[in-house]
Order: sequence, then C-alpha cells, then structure tokens
Amino acid sequence: MHGLMQAWPLTLDKILDHAKTWHGGVEIVSRSVEGPIVRTTYSEVHERAKRVSNALLELGVEAGDRVATLAWNSARHLETWYGIMGIGAVCHTLNPRLFPEQLCYIVNHAEDRIIFTDLTFLPMLLEHRDKMPTVERFIVLTDEGHVGDTLPGALAYETLIENASSDIPWGGFDENTAAGLCYTSGTTGNPKGVLYSHRSNFIQTLITLGADVLSLRATDVVLPIVPMFHANAWGLAFSAPAVGAKLVMPGPKLDGASVHELIETEGVTFSAAVPTVWQMLLNHLRRTNGKLTRLQRVVIGGAAVPEAIVRAFRDDYGVEVTHSWGMTETSPLGTLATPNPAIAAMSPDDRLRYQLKQGRAPIGIELALVDDDENDLPHDGATFGRLKIRGPCIAGEYYRGEGGRVLDARGFFDTGDVATLDEHGFMQITDRAKDVIKSGGEWISSIEIENIAAGHPKSELAAVIGVAHPKWDERPVLLVKLKDGETATRDEFLQFLDGKIAKWWTPDDVVFVDDIPLGATGKIDKKLLRERIIRSPQSSSP
Ligand code: ADP
Repeated sequence: MHGLMQAWPLTLDKILDHAKTWHGGVEIVSRSVEGPIVRTTYSEVHERAKRVSNALLELGVEAGDRVATLAWNSARHLETWYGIMGIGAVCHTLNPRLFPEQLCYIVNHAEDRIIFTDLTFLPMLLEHRDKMPTVERFIVLTDEGHVGDTLPGALAYETLIENASSDIPWGGFDENTAAGLCYTSGTTGNPKGVLYSHRSNFIQTLITLGADVLSLRATDVVLPIVPMFHANAWGLAFSAPAVGAKLVMPGPKLDGASVHELIETEGVTFSAAVPTVWQMLLNHLRRTNGKLTRLQRVVIGGAAVPEAIVRAFRDDYGVEVTHSWGMTETSPLGTLATPNPAIAAMSPDDRLRYQLKQGRAPIGIELALVDDDENDLPHDGATFGRLKIRGPCIAGEYYRGEGGRVLDARGFFDTGDVATLDEHGFMQITDRAKDVIKSGGEWISSIEIENIAAGHPKSELAAVIGVAHPKWDERPVLLVKLKDGETATRDEFLQFLDGKIAKWWTPDDVVFVDDIPLGATGKIDKKLLRERIIRSPQSSSP
C-alpha cells in the first residue's frame, strides 16, 4: 500500500524558489573578478537565473545537455548553476587548477556544449579551445565593457541575460534527473565523472542542515571559501539559500588578507575550506595581530586538519572547528566530528582528540570497515580497514561507466580510504589506500605523522611518503617545508615526534624541501612528491 502524501519532486530549483519567496531581500555579496565588491539578493539572483535558463534555451540547449562552468565563487556563478539545472540541463563544474590537458580531457569526455567562465581563464581557453571541439560557446561572467577580445566570439554574460526573458517554468521533471557533474581529480587513472541528481543533492542539502551537521540558520552569514568546483562547495550553494542565510562569495582571492577582510566587513559567522586555506588565514592574523570578531564556526575538510589549526582557532580566536570528511563521490559530506554526549562531557583536551578524527555519520550515510577479504572489522579505534559507504547521496557508478562496477555485493562504495572506527562511531582516516605505508607487513599512517610534524613551530608544511626498503618493503620519510627564515635539523624533528608516535613509525629520514606541491583541490600531491624524491633524492640537512 502506498502512502497518500503529495508528489513533490525533490528538484533543486525549489531551493532558489524558496529563498526568493521567503528570504528575497537577503544579500549575496561577491568579490568580483573585476575587483569591486558587488551586492545582490536572492530575489535578483532568482530573476537572473531564470534569464540564464531562457538564454540557454535560445542557444539550443536541451534537457540532459552538459553546460560547464569554469569560475570562482560569485553570485553570477550561482545564477548559472540554477539557470542550467532549472531546465534539466547538467551543470558541469570544471576545476581551473587542473592542468589544461586534464581540463580538455574532461570537457571532451562530458561533451560540454557551453562553458561559462571568468575573465581569469580566457588566455588558457584561447590556447586550448581547438582541443574542445564540442564547445559551441564561451560565455564570460562579466559585462560588455570588460569582455574584451582575448577570446574571439565569446559572449558577455550581462548582455546575454539582459536580452533574455525571465519568464520560464523550472523543474517539472523527475527528481532523479541529472543536475550536476563533477570529475574527481584522478590521482589514479583518468578523471571520473560523478553525476549528481536533483534528488541526491536535495537530500544532501537536508542532511547537511542538521544541527549536528552544518547547522546553518537564517541568521548565519556564510562564506564558502571551498570553491563551487570542488565537490559543489560542500553543498553550501544549496544549503545557504535553503535556510535564507546571507552568502559571501570570495571570488578569486583566497589569500589570508582578502579572506580576513571579507569575514570582518561582512560579518561572516560560518565558513568552510581545506586546511591549507585556514593556515594562510591564521598566518595572516598572526602577522597582523588581526582579530575575528564575528566568526563562530568553521568546517574544515578535504584533508585531515592538523591539531595546531584547531587549537589556534579555539584558543586564540574563540572559533569552533568542525572537522569533516567527504569526497566528490559522496556529494560530498560523509562524516563530521560533532560531539555525542560522552564526548561533549570530556575536558577540552580530551574532546580535541575526537575533533581531530573525521567524525561520525549523520542520518542518510552508512559506513562499513572491512579487510581485504570483505570481512567486517571491529570498531575499536585501532583496527585499520577499508572504508566503505552507502546512501542516497553516494555515487552508484561513474559517468559513462568509467571504472566499471564500483559497488560491492552489499551496495557499498569503496572510498579508497583506510580508516579506523571507534566505540563512539568516530571514523579516523589513516591514509588514502594508495598513500598508505606498509612496513614489515603493518600499516603506518602517513597522515598522523605529518600532522604532528606540522605542529612543530618551525614547520610550514609537512608530508610523509613511503620509500622502498629492502628489508621492510617501505619506510616513512618526512618532508618538511620550513617557515621563512628558519633552519632546523633532522634530529630536532625526530625528537619532536618521539613519544607521540609508535617507535617503529619514526621516519627513516627527514628531508627539508623548498616546496610541497598541492594538487587541484589544495591537498598535498603525494604522487608528485614521490616522483620528485625518487628522481632526485636529497639529503637531509646536518
Ligand atoms: P580529490 O582530492 O581526489 O580531488 P576529493 O575532494 O573528492 O577528490 O577528495 C576525497 C578524498 O580526500 C577522500 O577520499 C580522503 O582521502 C580525502 N579527505 C577528505 N576529507 C578528509 C579529511 N577530513 N581528512 C583526511 N582526508 C580527507
């Protein structure tokens, strides 16, 4: 017997409809690529997004067509998202930090017909446009006065939508219709496309609004520093309008000074970004003796958060940190380290141990921890295993079947992460499976060592990789980029680790490097690091 409630397809246009109807006057503030701060409202964004839809229809875009965006976080970018998705086309977010060859591969694989882009990327697009044969139009998110002739034939966004009507119905299709496409960075093999549906993103939005998840409210001022091209800005472009929170979009400037300025002038209460961005902000605050007067909460994910960052936010600035884990394939929020009653009752320092874990699953997420033979492993906080995940916002396969079957017999997706689960249900990532260091048949967590090393006062960034060893298979080596003007010795770092990790985890060597490369989503690029170290082994300083 079916229930007798209304059919109300969970389509994403309803989120912006809601924001317009009930929070229409709430501001969206953007640092524009052209320079000035630009202010608009949910009402205006809604109206202009409808114009985008009509403009796309006039350009011949049909339901299911892929329309790409290669753009910074801004109100215009938000308008294109809703304009594309509202008519059942697929919004394909492109990550400008990828190498141009990878971008071309992705555009061709997705068969994108149109690319909305920012002024920043015109020279790159000019150079590579002939390698993107499916792209019929480039639309530059600016006005006629700025578009220039860098990319001949490109249209100015403002002119395009000025000439389009705002009268168009949105939605009206099945909630399982594809809404968004985002490729994973492909650190192994080719990038693979994750194809979100309206339903999966709508459900993800509802999940993330929970008080133990992102806990957003209408009174919040939300700064998504995490880019809209990085796993949908962790859903904030949906969850902020869903609650009617003011949005502050940082545009291309993610350095400490620019982020700090926005936080203070716009009264930001909530923000989200990867650890390296927060490190830049904290460095800036220390250098300038800056304050955070309104910021209450930050979500940190994408890579493990170092203890020093949580402590600095908590002790020096009174800001609460929520550590979160997820991936493009999980829409992306998978777990958050929000306390349960037992953890909430602990002393601040005991609680910190749990804040540094990646946390627990909210409703709608199922986790499993298994060994290589698919046997379930104990949740004792010590046993390492492969982390698997299942739920309505988790990828069931990749776009165009890339990578073949990705679900196991029970319907779980293998995250490629190695983790532990403890008695509180708190998950801790010990490594990506491909970064794990296997020494004498046992696993060493590179993440744990590097996060402790990153807390050394002289260290700016630290990374641990495995290098081949004749007896133990692999042994860890610590790479450290020192802060400007600092010098240090190998023993100084080894002593710092002493007592904080198991003796046999102690790195065989410490190498001081000028640069630790970051990948397209702001995480340490271990593949490149390994290649560099193997190509040109450097010796540690005396
Ligand atoms: P990529 O980094 O490959 O571009 P994602 O952004 O989807 O793609 O990255 C997902 C991966 O990032 C996860 O599988 C995990 O290895 C890592 N990750 C994400 N959040 C965290 C975290 N809080 N701690 C440790 N690792 C994390």
